[in-house]
Amino acid sequence: MATDRPAATWRNWARTESATPRAYETPESLDEIAAVVARASERGLRVKAVGAGHSFSGAAVTDGVLVSLDRFTGIEDVRPTSAGALVTVRAGTRLRDLNRLLWDQGLAVPNLGDIDVQSLAGAMSTGTHGTGARFGGLATVARAATVVLADGSVVHCSPDDHPELYEAARLGLGAVGILATITLECVPAFALHAAEAPGTLHDTLAVLERDRLAVDHFEFYWFPHTDRVLTKRNTRLPADAPGAPVGRVRGFVDDEVLANGMFEVVQRVATRAPATIPRLNEFAARTLSPREFVDRSYRVFASPRRVRFREMEYAVPVGSVTDVLTEIDAWLSRNDFRVAFPVEVRFAAADDVWLSTAHGRDSAYLAVHQYHRREHRAYFDAVEAIARAVDGRPHWGKMHGRSAADLRTTYPRFDDFLAVRDRVDPQRTFANPYLDRVLGP
Ligand SMILES: Cc1cc2nc3c(=O)[nH]c(=O)nc-3n(C[C@H](O)[C@H](O)[C@H](O)COP(=O)(O)OP(=O)(O)OC[C@H]3O[C@@H](n4cnc5c(N)ncnc54)[C@H](O)[C@@H]3O)c2cc1C
Repeated sequence: MATDRPAATWRNWARTESATPRAYETPESLDEIAAVVARASERGLRVKAVGAGHSFSGAAVTDGVLVSLDRFTGIEDVRPTSAGALVTVRAGTRLRDLNRLLWDQGLAVPNLGDIDVQSLAGAMSTGTHGTGARFGGLATVARAATVVLADGSVVHCSPDDHPELYEAARLGLGAVGILATITLECVPAFALHAAEAPGTLHDTLAVLERDRLAVDHFEFYWFPHTDRVLTKRNTRLPADAPGAPVGRVRGFVDDEVLANGMFEVVQRVATRAPATIPRLNEFAARTLSPREFVDRSYRVFASPRRVRFREMEYAVPVGSVTDVLTEIDAWLSRNDFRVAFPVEVRFAAADDVWLSTAHGRDSAYLAVHQYHRREHRAYFDAVEAIARAVDGRPHWGKMHGRSAADLRTTYPRFDDFLAVRDRVDPQRTFANPYLDRVLGP
């Protein structure tokens, strides 16, 4: 049985948030999760579930009881369907483990983001997404969930069963309860053909509509202060499609030495001598050579990220990408502000998840980054103002300065979400300062 364990200081991956919770719990069963929550509620303590701590925002911070589901992992059930299978997963399962377990069953998550260390529940709860004009984020793949509410009760929810709780819980910022299990609609395992190539921003934007729609998973990185981009085109293939995974040496050289090792060196030089950044960006962009490979989908979607950075990401209506990038470029030039990190541009289909950043509209995601040793505030504030002007929505797990009053106007179902929260957590057991800001007290 889980008991109160005094907690050390907790920090998120980006080192932007920390907390010293009263207790740290690692329950191993649904009953234990329920007991931890009930006991904390009785004592008037706040409760927060934490996954891998990979949110840049303070979403997982608590001064009360921090609950990790790292010991509540694995697949509970697989029910085949005509399109794949409904797979019930324990919510603490890390995506990288889930991907391997699914592959062994001939299954896969249809789309993923660019890292795989997050917990399933943590990733879903903040609206984690990948890229692909026909695909939604992780929460759109959910079909049911088991939620532990503030009083310790356990509720199964789905579109047919407590549908409003289900809508709020599948992308709920941890505000309505602890997700214990999540049922995902998985597809047959597939491979991806990856084609990465350097190019220019001008050419990429000129054919953006074509590539966004024609390529299964299209994205690009723009190197600020230059016209250089790196495009990534991932095409879905049957799981047994012939092709070579990226060679071990080549993969090591590209991902570890260039994308991670060399990138750290670039960032350190940029920090000491910001004036060199435009030349460094040009150099970094040109060093990335074209490459193609075929591998299991989850291995292509995700790569390691060893350079620590700060990030803000905005979802904007897809038609405004060019304007937003042009404005960012103009702001950087006007203010002589140097950024040695590329801007990542991705795409997603409109969905109906209440708090999804792609709710009701085809979306483009623009992610801005800054090395963790450099000042990010002025840059992020400027990009936020530019994105807000086109009704942009911030990623819930990344840095941003928005609050409930102005988020309400961009989410048509915001008040429905708050109504569920009021009903299931009137005492605000699951609240924290971040939720007070973005949802209200
Ligand atoms: C290097 C890096 C790369 C990233 N790449 C992407 C990307 O490609 N696409 C993208 O969209 N995002 C990306 N992110 C953001 C990341 O996916 C999200 O912030 C995600 O929430 C992190 O998952 P986690 O398991 O670390 O959750 P945490 O950060 O630990 O928690 C996030 C939220 O989920 C809640 N939560 C955790 N577990 C539960 C549970 N069992 N029940 C209820 N609530 C719970 C927490 O309370 C908190 O509110 C990236 C982040 C980093 C650091």
